[in-house]
Amino acid sequence: MGLETATDGKITLGNAEIQDTPIEERDTNTISSIQMVFQNPFDTLNPSMTVGRQIVRALEVFGIGNTDNERRERMLKLLDLVKLPRAFADRMPRQLSGGQKQRVGIARAFAGDARIVVADEPVSALDVSVQAAVTDLLMEIQRENKTTLLFISHDLSIVRYLSDRVMVMYLGHVVELGTTDQVFAPPYHPYTEALLSAVPIADTSIEKQHIVLEGDIPSAMNPPSGCPFQTRCRWKDQVPGGLCDTEVPTVRNLPGKHKIKCHLSEEALARMEPVIKIAAE
Ligand code: SF4
Repeated sequence: MGLETATDGKITLGNAEIQDTPIEERDTNTISSIQMVFQNPFDTLNPSMTVGRQIVRALEVFGIGNTDNERRERMLKLLDLVKLPRAFADRMPRQLSGGQKQRVGIARAFAGDARIVVADEPVSALDVSVQAAVTDLLMEIQRENKTTLLFISHDLSIVRYLSDRVMVMYLGHVVELGTTDQVFAPPYHPYTEALLSAVPIADTSIEKQHIVLEGDIPSAMNPPSGCPFQTRCRWKDQVPGGLCDTEVPTVRNLPGKHKIKCHLSEEALARMEPVIKIAAE
């Protein structure tokens, strides 16, 4: 997003490297290409501006449309896109529910034909009853517009439902990366395994391993030595020589470009059982 510049690594948009350019130095095209849907729609809309005006404002900033009429027409189409009635253009944010506000947030993010939309826990502040509808809407727009959607979530059931590729992070480290099928089946990174065991499942035909993580999450400002997960990992004893306490693991490539940041041997990884499976009859 350019709100922070990168301390390491590269971020490329098309052929341009953008990791060192803060948002205030980015050109309009780069800014409209990478947009964000925020976690809390209650804080992100301007309370003193109508919904329509807020979307038109985004269009003006992105330089879209030559006249006010063109921008108004495009704003109404964006309301159609997020399945809000056109009459909502004249409403104030306080007249909208949380789910409706988040739809306005989505309309603004897609106003400039974004190529990448970062959605940071976009439904976690919403009522459970509207979460599925807003998630489906995001997926539908993403598929139609072929936008890259970077979806940040703690809810692994949603992640599984909508992702092609999944990156699992712990204390700022990418600990696992792969296709959804790779990440949701063993071998797992031990942290992914514990996360999966925390997914609530109501279906009684599904059996789930119960893995309790001991201790609190350490501070990212003062991380433990060695592997960032070593203070809570139940697999640590399987790594000889106390390596987990002293050395940060390198990222290893498993078959199919599946990546995992862990010292466990291939034999130990092969012994991992599925966390979630269909119960035997
Ligand atoms: S490196 Fe060691 S402590 Fe870290 S996740 Fe792997 S087994 Fe656990």
